[in-house]
Amino acid sequence: MTTQTGATDLRADVIIVGAGSGGCVLARRLLDAGARVLLLEAGGSDTQPGTGLLIRAPAAFPKLFKTGVDWAFDTVEQPHAGGRRFYWPRGKVLGGSSAINATIYIRGSKADFDGWGEGWRWDDVLPAFRSIEKFTGEAGEFRGDAGELAVGHRAASHDLSHAFVQAASGVLGVPAMSSFNHGTLEGAGILESNHHRGERQSAFRAFLRPVMNHPNLTVLTGARVLELLWEGKRAVGVRLRWRGRTLDAPAGGVVLAAGAVQTPQLLMLSGVGPKEELTRHGISVRVNLPGVGGGLQDHLAVPVIFRSKVQSLDGGSEGAAFAQWLLNRTGPLASNVAEASAFVRSGPDLQHADLQYHFGPAYFRDHGFQRADGWHFSVGPVLVEPYSSGRIGLISADPLAAPRIDPRYLSDGRDLRALVSGVRQARDIGAGEGLRQMNTGEVLPGNAATSDTELAEYVRQECATLYHPVGTAALGDGDDAVVDRRLAVRDTQGLWVADASVMPRIIHANTNATSMMIGARAAKFVGKNS
Ligand SMILES: Cc1cc2nc3c(=O)[nH]c(=O)nc-3n(C[C@H](O)[C@H](O)[C@H](O)COP(=O)(O)OP(=O)(O)OC[C@H]3O[C@@H](n4cnc5c(N)ncnc54)[C@H](O)[C@@H]3O)c2cc1C
Repeated sequence: MTTQTGATDLRADVIIVGAGSGGCVLARRLLDAGARVLLLEAGGSDTQPGTGLLIRAPAAFPKLFKTGVDWAFDTVEQPHAGGRRFYWPRGKVLGGSSAINATIYIRGSKADFDGWGEGWRWDDVLPAFRSIEKFTGEAGEFRGDAGELAVGHRAASHDLSHAFVQAASGVLGVPAMSSFNHGTLEGAGILESNHHRGERQSAFRAFLRPVMNHPNLTVLTGARVLELLWEGKRAVGVRLRWRGRTLDAPAGGVVLAAGAVQTPQLLMLSGVGPKEELTRHGISVRVNLPGVGGGLQDHLAVPVIFRSKVQSLDGGSEGAAFAQWLLNRTGPLASNVAEASAFVRSGPDLQHADLQYHFGPAYFRDHGFQRADGWHFSVGPVLVEPYSSGRIGLISADPLAAPRIDPRYLSDGRDLRALVSGVRQARDIGAGEGLRQMNTGEVLPGNAATSDTELAEYVRQECATLYHPVGTAALGDGDDAVVDRRLAVRDTQGLWVADASVMPRIIHANTNATSMMIGARAAKFVGKNS
């Protein structure tokens, strides 16, 4: 049995579905509050041969793609983005996507959370952010140092990353920032990450691994939840597939933390969702909630890559890099690849920066599947204020089938225009003081793409997810809201959501810290008003 505690009793006060960013933080907070928690994770342990060390070495995350710790989803064809199907990695392992991500720790802006409205404004969420952090810098009004999660600047960042900060602030006319975690997403700076002594700290490693022997905690790996169990409109447990058996696990309450792709899928499989979608798949409607699966938003990234005069992360021997990391947890693998960022507005009328450049001292294209010889750096514009939105639906009522993922990328023309402007600006950054001296020529898009039409086609053909789907079980008060402001699923009892699905609008930054904040806040709501 793969329970990490050795326990076999499936009765719990609370069942949490999914041991990802939201689920791990929530499980820890509920345990600390005295609850008996059953955490069900479809993936396996984070120490499996073949992937265990790659999870721990931060810069190795692309090597986890399409392995056993990745759900490796595909979207449906995207008509506005070259008709391509987009590959969507999601973590399938203890830690969820926080075990395979790029470890950037960034909160989102004050304006992001103020925009979420009552109960979720910056002043409401700041204490939860602080509570999870063990900040390696100076704690204070904005930063916490008593939490479980190591947060801070890595011991070292590449010279190219510092050169990017200089070039970006010069070219864009924005300040150099020492941190992006004070509520303002403007300027250029080195990113903070979740590393501890040169190793990744996933949500599982930080929050649950230290308490795996807790008598009130049972963690089942390889446990795929198929649907919710009900008494009327009250969720009273889950049905799961585990070790070739189908089991029913009862609980006082259930929290879905299966991520923005699978939380809405589980709701729909359990009869909670848009009536038409459920009926089409022969699922009886328990609660008609039209917003389930809708409101899907994501961040798109476009590769802009230059050859480097100086050695980058990817130009040396992989074996030597691994040996160095094994020996003393330093070197290229102790990086997180995306070491620095700059936030900028693509047009003068915008209220907030809508582009976040991700700088990596490496060649990063097609999720790292396409490689190139030599030394490179990447200045990737990422659209952090997308207007396009899509939905998660069902392909079938089979709980083991993947859901239908349709982000409707670039369906709003403003998104394409912003990214084209981003590619132009990335070129300017590459030629800016600091980076110019390290730049020996543009590789992508290259000379063939200069006009707006050519650049637009380049964006359509090369853009890729930055891995931030959110919003598919959004919190709020309107007709499309799926959960209320205390994360309880509307028109049900005993059921909550605590993951990236509940974001009512995508934040203007990477989404992991916010997913963990949601997990931390959920602990205050779960069990109440049920
Ligand atoms: C490759 C990659 C790079 C990223 N880089 C960054 C970054 O650097 N910084 C950043 O801020 N964000 C990053 N993100 C995004 C960030 O990691 C996610 O937003 C965040 O982890 C989402 O947390 P979650 O709790 O919603 O879902 P997840 O962490 O994905 O957790 C969901 C969990 O539920 C499990 N599950 C799903 N269905 C079932 C089921 N039926 N039964 C049981 N278990 C189930 C999954 O296996 C998974 O463990 C990245 C994501 C990826 C994939």
